[in-house]
Amino acid sequence: MISEKRAKKYGFWKYFEEIAAIPHGSGNTKQISNYLVDFAKEKGLKYVQEKCGNVIIFSPASEGREKEESVILQGHMDMVAVKESGVEKDLETEGLELFMEKGFVGARGTSLGGDDGIALAYALSIMADPKASHPAIEAVFTVNEEVGMDGAQALDASKLSGKTMINLDNEKEGELIVGCSGGAGIECVIPVEWKSRTANAYEIKVSGLKGGHSGTEINEGRVSAITIIARFLAQLKLVRTRIIDIQAGEKDNAIAKSGMIKFICSAPKSDVIETVNFYADVLKEEMATREPGLHFDFSVLGEGIEVTALHKADSERIMDVLLALPQGVREMSADIPGLVETSDNIGIVSLKEDALHVSASVRSSHESARQALCDKIIAVASLGGGTCTQGKEYPGWEFEKDSPLLSHVVKNYKEFYGTEPVVKTIHAGLECGIFAGKIKKLDCISMGPDVNDIHTVNERLSVASAEKTYDFLLKLLESEIIKEK
Ligand SMILES: [Zn+2]
Repeated sequence: MISEKRAKKYGFWKYFEEIAAIPHGSGNTKQISNYLVDFAKEKGLKYVQEKCGNVIIFSPASEGREKEESVILQGHMDMVAVKESGVEKDLETEGLELFMEKGFVGARGTSLGGDDGIALAYALSIMADPKASHPAIEAVFTVNEEVGMDGAQALDASKLSGKTMINLDNEKEGELIVGCSGGAGIECVIPVEWKSRTANAYEIKVSGLKGGHSGTEINEGRVSAITIIARFLAQLKLVRTRIIDIQAGEKDNAIAKSGMIKFICSAPKSDVIETVNFYADVLKEEMATREPGLHFDFSVLGEGIEVTALHKADSERIMDVLLALPQGVREMSADIPGLVETSDNIGIVSLKEDALHVSASVRSSHESARQALCDKIIAVASLGGGTCTQGKEYPGWEFEKDSPLLSHVVKNYKEFYGTEPVVKTIHAGLECGIFAGKIKKLDCISMGPDVNDIHTVNERLSVASAEKTYDFLLKLLESEIIKEK
């Protein structure tokens, strides 16, 4: 796929092709982990392979640079392996079929894994290149970043001596990430009891919402299907409603795009229909700009039928809880314009036989603010007679104004590109946060070449950007990162 001429000039292409030939979706990283170990063995480099599959490769400094501190190069070895419907390929066992078209590399019918295969390819290529000048390198490759950053969480960082880290998992050239929020997951369980009765039953389905990532897209005014359901239930409460079922959302870290409620109502059928239709119009009008695709399907499930619904008190409790749970941006940063500081997303609600189950994801640049918001959710659940468990916590990575690495990168960036880089912090979790939590005074940035539409079958890596970013990375390593005392 990549021409020989190209691969000769840029050694990382050869590694990128080799990586693409190995199936390496999240949870399926044994083979890619062993591939990295084989590389280290072949080059005579020291390495560590952790039980979870993480690999660290130690590459000595170039001649004359032995006194400099080591630099950590870091990326994750797993990819989000998805394919177009109708594609026969088994992504568990088969490699990808790369192609190059109009200056971009893609994989036929599947995601590419440029996120984050390019990090591996870069690091291997630098360590394999005798002409590259660099301080000692500790290349850290983690498993299962895409499914909860498990590898970074499990990493034994005591094996690392470096306190300067370049993470290669950003997908926009010219953008330097220097901080990220921390996060936590919360599961709430609100017990319920049921009662059989004869009544008219109805269903409302909510669909057509934009959805999106609960971190990076939480400030775009997108409306959660759970919010809409909660507001509908608040209206229906006025006409003596009992809940039969509620299901909405798919992932705790995705804004819920759709959902449904089933309920019975003792009010006359015509009143119910009028209430529902009226309020559907109210919501559609209110959200016409933010959610133009919002769509309701309302149906009568049956008249005078035998159903099992929640007890009156339980039904009302659940309605109150859903209405009271916070959703979306809670606070914007006072330091960095446009940056969300604290937010939460109620990602899934599901009524099961025993209880209403709620999964939420909470983020903040400040651990204390994150905890306060977690406490708020726990309080709402508790008022509703439920309990919560907090888990999946990961630390934030706070922006360090006086970072020697950042000044080194910005200085070199200006020399190399002739422009200023974009320096930003993001409202989402990165592995850097976990590393910063494990390595005291870690100085870190995240960067990378242009990769479009990651995690989809349209994922494309820009050839020009990949090559230019590689040259820039070489330049960054070429001179010492000076720490002013
Ligand atoms: Zn990634």
